[in-house]
Amino acid sequence: MDSTMQRTPLLISTLLRYGAEAHPRSELITWTGSGARRITYREVGAKAAQLAHALRGIGITGDQRVGTFMWNNAEHVIAYLAVPSMGAVLHALNIRLFPEQLAYVARHGGSEVVIVDDSLAESFSKLLPALTRVRHVVVNGPVPAEVRDALAAPAHVEAVHDWAEFLDGQPETFEWPDVDENDGCAMCYTSGTTGSPKGVVYSHRSNYLHSLTAVSMLGIGQPDRLLIVVPLFHANAWGYPYSAMISGASLVLPDRYLQPEPLARMIADLKVTGGAGVPTVWNGLLQQLEHEPVDVSSCRFLMVGGAAAPPAMLRAFPEKFGIEMVQGWGMTEMSPVGSLALAPGDVAPDSPDYWRYRESQGRLLCGVQGRLAGPDGSLQPADGESVGELEVRGPWITGSYYANGSESEAELADMASKFDDGWLRTGDVGSLTDDSYLVLTDRAKDVIKSGGEWISSVDLENAIMGHPDVLEASVIGIPDDKWQERPLATVVLKEGATATAGDLRAYLAGKVARWQLPDKWAVIDEVPKTSVGKFDKKTLRQRFADGALE
Ligand code: ADP
Repeated sequence: MDSTMQRTPLLISTLLRYGAEAHPRSELITWTGSGARRITYREVGAKAAQLAHALRGIGITGDQRVGTFMWNNAEHVIAYLAVPSMGAVLHALNIRLFPEQLAYVARHGGSEVVIVDDSLAESFSKLLPALTRVRHVVVNGPVPAEVRDALAAPAHVEAVHDWAEFLDGQPETFEWPDVDENDGCAMCYTSGTTGSPKGVVYSHRSNYLHSLTAVSMLGIGQPDRLLIVVPLFHANAWGYPYSAMISGASLVLPDRYLQPEPLARMIADLKVTGGAGVPTVWNGLLQQLEHEPVDVSSCRFLMVGGAAAPPAMLRAFPEKFGIEMVQGWGMTEMSPVGSLALAPGDVAPDSPDYWRYRESQGRLLCGVQGRLAGPDGSLQPADGESVGELEVRGPWITGSYYANGSESEAELADMASKFDDGWLRTGDVGSLTDDSYLVLTDRAKDVIKSGGEWISSVDLENAIMGHPDVLEASVIGIPDDKWQERPLATVVLKEGATATAGDLRAYLAGKVARWQLPDKWAVIDEVPKTSVGKFDKKTLRQRFADGALE
């Protein structure tokens, strides 16, 4: 039986239109270093239309790619909305990738136009000669003449535009086209924590459904002001530019001011009610608030994800500052949110089970199906104990990686190997409970294989980070003749702290099995971070490859 329902496609333009019309007074608030500049969602609608007209004017049609090389600011969010709405495909470039990786990703994506922040224009000009498909550059803000000349220099660049002039005089409405909801609307590459970056292409439909679900799970609404620290170039910005249009929540955008001190100021001055960022960002904020308290009473929750959140931090925010910290798990390939660690409604905070739920990676979102594949590929039960690699499928999970025809056979085979009969292999190892909660023990590549047993690097890190002297801990496996691998713990101490490796080992002894205790410890100044602020274990492994301590 055919339904009688209208077949209205789920499009980003619907979200943009809704945000501008239904939440006209909500705002994008961009931090300027000393204060904030604001633009209402009504104005966002008008600017998005102007940007779309201007892009059409330089020949952007169909599904051509429009790149961004920007911090989190209002213009970046406008591009996030305008480019998909006009039927083109947004490609937010990760400004922090190494130049070779960045050039690879930008070329592979194939942007014809790139919108660049003024503060990043000089570094982008160095990359541009390699990006031979880029015909136009739009610079967001004024830049010195020599930077503009450098941007205009490559033969393939037809023109360099100033954002304000580019939009000026363009009509403030746009006839957003009715594209297919399954068409690509944005693309994103993994940050390459475990290998070379791989791209996925989101559809209008996938982004629409993902954002709608995230909004309903987090209970965000028009009175909210969300501090979006997660970069717009990381993992589809966790869907916030789109969920803001649905919910009417205002967004606070930190631009390039990502240090703990300005973040604390933004929360206090702008009365932020919630936020989103990776664990290292919120850990930095925690230290900042402990040393220089400011009024953060407006803040209801902080979303944390992208890497395992240390339980000590999950508990410290509510205990010390009354802020709920909600862990989410996801992947670029999953738009990105797959689960959120809210406790079931009937498990009260004083219940012994409460923190077991809250410290897990969370309950799978409605629409995300998960299953566990054991070492031999056999499916493991969701009984909270059996461990396997998590495989997922669902309407906002990629079914393949983006290939543009330039890939070698080996690369195509590698991409295909990440899928198992229509399920995405996540590379994450853990268990599932019978009520859909996910507990990850590690990434498959980070698990330490010691004498035929597996040691979870994350469990060790979480336990070490519970010590009051420890700011950060990252544990890696190093080759061992007898055991194959043994754990090496790298630790960053808090300012003025004096704990020694011996103290930390003794502290850990009561918390993990004896054979799991790291034999080697290194107190270091800083754990190296990836381009999106995760612990960079690849670099740590190289640094300590021979097991010798510095
Ligand atoms: P990359 O693979 O380059 O790091 P992503 O940002 O897409 O790019 O990373 C996704 C991965 O991050 C997941 O597969 C998982 O290993 C890790 N991750 C994300 N959120 C969490 C979390 N809450 N707990 C543990 N690991 C997480």
